Amino acid sequence: MRKVYLDHAGTTPLHPEVYSLMCEFMKNNFGNPSSIHSYGREAKKWVDEARQQVADLIGADREEIIFTGSGTEADNLAIIGTAAARRKKGNHIITSSIEHPAVLNTCKYLEKNGFEVTYLPVDGYGLVDPEELRRAIRHETILVTIMHANNEIGTIEPIEELSSIAREYGILFHTDAVQTAGKIPVNVKDLGVDLLTISSHKIYGPKGVGALYKRKGVRLEPVIHGGGQEKKMRSGTENTAGIVGFGKAAEIAARDLESEYNRTLELRDRLVQGINDRIPDVKYNGHPERRLPHNAHFSFSYVEGESMLLSLDMKGIAASSGSACSSSNLKGSHVLEAIGLPYELIHGSLRMTLGRMNDAADIDYVLEVLPEIVARLRSFSPLANKLTV
Ligand code: PLP
Repeated sequence: MRKVYLDHAGTTPLHPEVYSLMCEFMKNNFGNPSSIHSYGREAKKWVDEARQQVADLIGADREEIIFTGSGTEADNLAIIGTAAARRKKGNHIITSSIEHPAVLNTCKYLEKNGFEVTYLPVDGYGLVDPEELRRAIRHETILVTIMHANNEIGTIEPIEELSSIAREYGILFHTDAVQTAGKIPVNVKDLGVDLLTISSHKIYGPKGVGALYKRKGVRLEPVIHGGGQEKKMRSGTENTAGIVGFGKAAEIAARDLESEYNRTLELRDRLVQGINDRIPDVKYNGHPERRLPHNAHFSFSYVEGESMLLSLDMKGIAASSGSACSSSNLKGSHVLEAIGLPYELIHGSLRMTLGRMNDAADIDYVLEVLPEIVARLRSFSPLANKLTV
């Protein structure tokens, strides 16, 4: 059976060049980068090179990169670290209602510890209105954290505009760029941000390694305490092989950014057009232009998303329900709720995210299989049947 992987926003496989380099590194190096002997110095050299590669991907300086154990950890460090460092200045944080749980739940944690958080609404495309941000700012506001692009619907937020408003008031600005770095141009200076999160496993690097960009001069309190690695910002012996792989993945992502952008955009447009042509009663979610090139997100009326996923999986196609609902959590996606989708459409949603593993034949296979699946599932739906009788 053909296998088609359409969940590149969930995670990506290791790029073969990343795999080779990690193997070479692990075969020949085991030193602790904090040790002063030759083994340690050699390991440090590799980590520093990776730091440069990651910095280059986002237009930062090497000294501004803090390696962490994940994108989630980098988000925690940015938010909790700022809250702790600026507590005397104020206790108010502004974020958006469509953030990843790594940001939302960190904000919820701070709410339980004396901070106040404003969750900005978004419009039907998932965009934050810069004027809403201006209105939400208070004397006590210390941090604005708004994602660069949404992981479910792919909408790209107007970060330059939002960060310039925060700057006017001397408020720090953090953006979660886990879904954008390596996919669209990301430059910390152009974006005007103080803090920015990225993650290795979304860009064909290994899992369990991320990074926080911290602009020179920005003060954070560490979240993890110990031996003082990463300039005291993130203690713990470095995941050297992971960092080396992340660096290589960042270098490759920068090198191939334009070609992969154009290639996935073309495939995505073929997929979207094909679905719109072949399947009735379908809504394309997210912004038509301000969106990630590889993201296609649909809601199908009268279809249950999980059943669609399982049927696709049986045909070898891996996608995501986009409704983030599991047996333990029957609540639909907070993102789809925030853009105003009705319950029924939230539960009939499907996210397909393209990447290096895909070609045109994959898209044609999906276009052959998906209409049949939707039609079959709709045939079981009393609502769909009522409308067609
Ligand atoms: N932020 C966003 C927008 C994400 O999409 C993800 C992962 O899906 C994360 C943060 C978490 O990154 P990690 O898996 O490296 O913890």
